[in-house]
Amino acid sequence: MSLRLFWHRRDLRLSDSVGLAAAYAQTPKVVGIFCFDPAILSAPNIAAVRVTYLVGCLQALRESYQRLGGSFLIFHGDPRQVLPQVASGLGAVAVHWHEDVEPYGRDRDRAVAAALKEKGIAVETAWDQLLHPPDTLQTKQGQPYTVYSPFWRNWSSLAKPAPVPTPSHLEPLTETEQATATALGAIPLPTAKDLGFHWSGELILAPGEAAAQAQLETFIDQHIQDYGEQRNYPAQPGTSLLSPALKFGVIGIRRVWAASQAAMAAARSEEAQTSIRTWQQELAWREFYQHALYWFPHLAERPHREGFATFPWLNNTEHFAAWCEGRTGYPIVDAAMRQLNETGWMHNRCRMIVASFLTKDLMINPQWGEQYFMQKLMDGDLAANNGGWQWSASSGMDPKPLRIFNPASQAQKFDPEAEYIRRWLPELQSLDTADLVTGNISPLERHRCGYPLPIVDHRQQQRQFKQLYQAHFRSPIAQG
Ligand SMILES: Cc1cc2nc3c(=O)[nH]c(=O)nc-3n(C[C@H](O)[C@H](O)[C@H](O)COP(=O)(O)OP(=O)(O)OC[C@H]3O[C@@H](n4cnc5c(N)ncnc54)[C@H](O)[C@@H]3O)c2cc1C
Repeated sequence: MSLRLFWHRRDLRLSDSVGLAAAYAQTPKVVGIFCFDPAILSAPNIAAVRVTYLVGCLQALRESYQRLGGSFLIFHGDPRQVLPQVASGLGAVAVHWHEDVEPYGRDRDRAVAAALKEKGIAVETAWDQLLHPPDTLQTKQGQPYTVYSPFWRNWSSLAKPAPVPTPSHLEPLTETEQATATALGAIPLPTAKDLGFHWSGELILAPGEAAAQAQLETFIDQHIQDYGEQRNYPAQPGTSLLSPALKFGVIGIRRVWAASQAAMAAARSEEAQTSIRTWQQELAWREFYQHALYWFPHLAERPHREGFATFPWLNNTEHFAAWCEGRTGYPIVDAAMRQLNETGWMHNRCRMIVASFLTKDLMINPQWGEQYFMQKLMDGDLAANNGGWQWSASSGMDPKPLRIFNPASQAQKFDPEAEYIRRWLPELQSLDTADLVTGNISPLERHRCGYPLPIVDHRQQQRQFKQLYQAHFRSPIAQG
């Protein structure tokens, strides 16, 4: 029986998997493989919480393979060497995988494909993580989209693919093949600690396909109809918390879409339908940023608006440390950074608030914030994170050039009872709600609570940022 390898990367599941279904259509002997890449594990943008979730998902995936009777192999090494060696050692006729949008992944895949082809092993790839792959969605002029609204209009008008079937039974490796795999370096699944990462906190989403599916169901049953309103309040459980599962492909995007469409069909009010549409728009933002990274790989390195490459950021390292540690003296900013540091996740509204604060109030290079987020987020994802940071810094694909968030008005609007602030800054528990949301806390009170004075003055910083911005963008080197 011919053997095919399915190389898992950000598709840690067996259901609704385009490439796995394609391999299974050829043979039931599809062997899963995952390779820990030392280049990724040693990069400066890795988060212990993300590795912990990844390892948990791999454990669940291995169990899923076992349940279907199949085999799942783990390796540690450079995929450019590991994949061709293993495929050839096991006599695989083909290796399947899903396309990636990240520059590193695309270069790596080209190298792996070339090495496999040299050995006469077929390579079969497919798009899986997007409802509409990059080359299926372009402007009328045949260009990639750089503005979200027309992207959404086109994206939402297209028919969406249905979930693909899950294999029902897989053939395992024979004992001899298993021994060959071990000789080639197959290892037992390491723990995150074995890999050098330590995360002692809870995970906002349990690892594995079943947990992601259960989370989707809970969100659809309990929250999607109120999402339009509730998604903005960080103290409320109004969003899906599916971002880590979507990042690692622990749930199939077609399933997620189908669930949202079923909710739409069942919705009784216009308000509920609008809420569901709003959630679908977030799924489209995810795809917009992935398309952007695919077509403009330089986004990973530099701003979209070229003039920002030479922007005179102040880059005060003490201010940066205060921002990272949640001690800027601005309660909503500090609460959000503590949520990030303690849980590995932060509410979207707060991501926008702290990113605006870092770039517009502290005037620190957004790339510093982007990297810090990657070092902390369980859902840390190059395309979404880079897109979010460039949007917040006004350096990205956003037609509104200068958006500055006022921390006090954001808190007044979205945390009016200071519930979120109190949750993450327990030392401020006893203060008046009005003072917490506006940040108007006297120096004496701050001292009493062991809470710092504001490190900057928002109004003054806003003026300074605007001056810097105007002076810079009038200068000839910064047009763009
Ligand atoms: C500065 C900044 C950095 C960000 N970094 C990341 C990141 O590293 N990884 C990440 O997945 N998201 C990132 N986001 C987007 C967003 O904050 C998270 O996707 C969202 O908070 C995840 O929570 P949820 O799953 O409950 O989202 P929901 O509100 O339930 O949304 C559903 C899904 O849509 C996608 N989504 C929602 N909003 C966005 C958005 N603005 N951009 C792209 N996709 C979106 C996510 O996959 C999310 O799981 C960032 C946003 C900002 C402003």
